[in-house]
Amino acid sequence: MLTGKTNEEKIWNYLTAAGLNACGAAGLMGNLYAESALSPINLQNTFEKKLGYTDAAYTAAVDSGAYDSFVRDSAGYGLAQWTYWSRKKNLLDYAKSRGKSIGDLEMQLDFLMKELSGGYRAVLDVLRTATSVRTASDAVLLQFERPADQSAAVQERRAGYGQKYYDKYAAGQQAEKGSGKTMGYTNSPLVSYTRISPNKTRNRTHKIDTITIHCIVGQWTAKQGCDYFAGASAKSSANYVVGKDGSIGLCVEEKDRSWCTSNAANDHRAVTIEVASDTSSPYAVTDKAYTALLNLVTDICKRNGKTKLLWTGNKTKTLACKPLQNEMVMTVHRWFANKSCPGDWLYNRLGDLAEKVTSRLGGAAPQPSPSGTLYRVQTGAYKNKANADSQLAKVKAAGFDTYMVKAGGLYKIQVGAFSKKENADAMAAAGFDTFITTEKGEAVSSNGTATASLAVGDKVKLDSNAPVYGGTSKFASWVYSSTLYLRELNGNRAVISTQKTGAVTGAVDKKYLKKI
Ligand SMILES: [Zn+2]
Repeated sequence: MLTGKTNEEKIWNYLTAAGLNACGAAGLMGNLYAESALSPINLQNTFEKKLGYTDAAYTAAVDSGAYDSFVRDSAGYGLAQWTYWSRKKNLLDYAKSRGKSIGDLEMQLDFLMKELSGGYRAVLDVLRTATSVRTASDAVLLQFERPADQSAAVQERRAGYGQKYYDKYAAGQQAEKGSGKTMGYTNSPLVSYTRISPNKTRNRTHKIDTITIHCIVGQWTAKQGCDYFAGASAKSSANYVVGKDGSIGLCVEEKDRSWCTSNAANDHRAVTIEVASDTSSPYAVTDKAYTALLNLVTDICKRNGKTKLLWTGNKTKTLACKPLQNEMVMTVHRWFANKSCPGDWLYNRLGDLAEKVTSRLGGAAPQPSPSGTLYRVQTGAYKNKANADSQLAKVKAAGFDTYMVKAGGLYKIQVGAFSKKENADAMAAAGFDTFITTEKGEAVSSNGTATASLAVGDKVKLDSNAPVYGGTSKFASWVYSSTLYLRELNGNRAVISTQKTGAVTGAVDKKYLKKI
């Protein structure tokens, strides 16, 4: 059953109920608009004249059997302007099997989802997880619709149509949240100590759709934390405090805005949680506190009607995409102020936390890694242990939970393991030269497929376009025609030489090297 007054509303409601997120639904709808103006009986305009049919007459003639060239007439038809004969045949067969008109909106939407979950699975994955309308729109344009004109201008135009739907529907959900109605806020039943702080703004102006977890920089109990925030001089607060012993305190009711994240807009929509932690980097928290945090976050999501907790590890992405009604997102203090809060110990576990909470809520865990693959971020591989030790110290000093492994005669500095590639990607963005590997140590390219890895000592050939590492100048021409040895590898920086030992020739980004 479709719900909504217009085709547009019906399609939006259908797609979001079918598991597309707001960016995905909007990106797909922008393309459908470009194809058919969202009319399921739309016959490609040039064929109206050629065949002598209007949209309605063509549809009726196909339904009645009076027109029997539907499959092979090369005329685009319907929401997605299905054109290619095999897709039109599948559409016709599907309509017949359902006993519906070829122009039936719900039948076409069902067929569209059937296509997406069949041969276009990769597109569907993007539509479920996209963090921008443009990403979703491009996936549909370039991999699903594939019209003759896929130029940058067309990409931009279609994403623009999608953005309008996004603004209208996803932003519409937000407007309703700020309408001033009593929103029925509740507080957690897990609380064992309550002391309400004066440091707050009464009545939040935005419905709860965000959780922001902080480290309190002190191994305190919930009572100690709440008592501290109760002092007016603290000039700060949080909705909840989680203690080192797993105790949970209420400091600012969920209906009110806490003064916690250095950002009013964030705190009006977020439930903020301060967690007892060590006083120095990486600001580790106790097992008891982490367990209590998991319970509290699960409870907050449940009471606020959320079935999914999302962590992107990326400020721009998170703030660009408004969550759906059933989604809770996480933000971190370090995005809004020059602070390391929540500390790397917690920061590195937010992906794990989102995964666990979502699975407890019974929602689908976003993008599970295939067959339990674990991803690690590798920040260096060295022949010389002293060099590896020095890199390890640097990475540790930056607060990462890092370690050294020895494989294939090399000392490798790795961080991880992450069960989701996007969490590893987020780690890789921390400023070191990095690449993502699977646990076994093969390199993984950005689209997630394994590629042959390079190791020190390998014989390699240099790509003829390769510039010198970090610059634009080229190597002497003989270097490009020589067989080279990979002498050192640190992140993307590869040191090459024409000799196995002794003098080196230069450094180059490893993407320009091909193992021979
Ligand atoms: Zn903080």
